[in-house]
Amino acid sequence: MSKALISVVVPAFNERANVAPLLARLASMAGGETGYDWEFVFVDDGSGDGTADAVADAAAADRRVKLLQFTRNFGHQMALTAGLGEARGRAVVSLDADLQHPPETVPAMLRRWEAGAKVVAGLRGASGAGAAKDRASRLFYWLINHLTEIPIPAGAADFRLMDREVVDAFLRMGERARFIRGMVSWMGFPVETAPYAEERRAAGRSKYSLTRMLCLAADAVTSFSALPLRFATVAGLATTLIAALYAAYVLFVFLFVPRVVIPGWASIVLVALFLGGIQLLFLGVIGEYLHRIYAEVKGRPLYLVKRRIGLADDGSGAGTQARRL
Ligand code: UDP
Ligand code: MG
Repeated sequence: MSKALISVVVPAFNERANVAPLLARLASMAGGETGYDWEFVFVDDGSGDGTADAVADAAAADRRVKLLQFTRNFGHQMALTAGLGEARGRAVVSLDADLQHPPETVPAMLRRWEAGAKVVAGLRGASGAGAAKDRASRLFYWLINHLTEIPIPAGAADFRLMDREVVDAFLRMGERARFIRGMVSWMGFPVETAPYAEERRAAGRSKYSLTRMLCLAADAVTSFSALPLRFATVAGLATTLIAALYAAYVLFVFLFVPRVVIPGWASIVLVALFLGGIQLLFLGVIGEYLHRIYAEVKGRPLYLVKRRIGLADDGSGAGTQARRL
């Protein structure tokens, strides 16, 4: 009887120096899990440092290593999506290439999966990322949890195990603005957790700048909440009400109060500034939704593939896995 296959999906962007150490730790972890067959699916997200070649070399020596290489950088969430689309395992584990997600936690995830768990999320205990990044991360989760209806515990990461059933359900979601933590929570499968201590990034620098984190937060909020649009409606109603009251007052003064010189400059300027500001702000909010709608309507493939090693060729070279289902 053949053993069940477990996939590990690794999105990698300029992680050349981390490929060999990560594979060594994955291999030694897999060596202890003799009940399973393994595949290690690397998705090279347009690296410029030869990450893909390092993976290709490893694949020549170890058939479990597989490579999907993008034509350019499409982003972490897209790379993860692509990897989930290629993985063939009964369970699929995703983890970062920089060794911040220790492979040694995977057996604990597997035990929970064997006991029936559909999703086992790694839950970051101590963080190895540094104070500034921690603060940014806390702000990120505060925003998500206050602006959207999907609960996401702070310290959740894209380090998780998903059962085949969950991966297949995930691949039916074809949206472009992908906040995968949110999408997994949205699917509604019960989530169990496996604690892990985050390690320091082994080599290289974090690819998530503050701007990128803010973009991900904007994707997360717009994907899972219409609350910012509602704020516009409420603010619009409130200002209309205030304007109506003020109009009544102005009319009253105009009609009944004997004309004295009223120095109205300050109030006019303040009102104009305030209303102008609010209008621009909410135009921006609407724009955030609009450009995402535009991107969806174009219906382009989610990503394009340059090279595949060890993976069945679907002939399209295009990342339409998620859309085809
Ligand atoms: N990553 C990616 N594409 C990107 C940015 C990041 O595939 O455009 C990968 C990166 O190689 C790593 C993972 O996503 O494996 C997490 O990125 P990183 O470690 O830079 O983020 P951080 O841990 O600092 O939040
Ligand atoms: Mg990292």
